[in-house]
Amino acid sequence: MSCSICKEDGHNAKTCPKNNREPVQAESHVLWVKFDNVTPQQADELLKGAIDLKSAVAPNARGTFAKGTKSEMPQKIAEALKLNQTSISNEPKKIE
Ligand SMILES: [Zn+2]
Repeated sequence: MSCSICKEDGHNAKTCPKNNREPVQAESHVLWVKFDNVTPQQADELLKGAIDLKSAVAPNARGTFAKGTKSEMPQKIAEALKLNQTSISNEPKKIE
């Protein structure tokens, strides 16, 4: 698999020598995404794709993802917001 930034083999976006972007300043910019009318399988694929894309495009960003039914979502979003306040990890968080 080649680097998503320079397309060369042997490293990834996190370790790319051409990635000189500054780390995202904490809480300066966020992206909120919601997909409606998806099957559980589509939700799984979208989640995997979003995590992969986040790692490639914004390796220093902190990612939090929630998936579930419409009725579960308010509680999951509340949990996600709590995670964001206390998390120091760059790894994506999944609220299952
Ligand atoms: Zn590279």
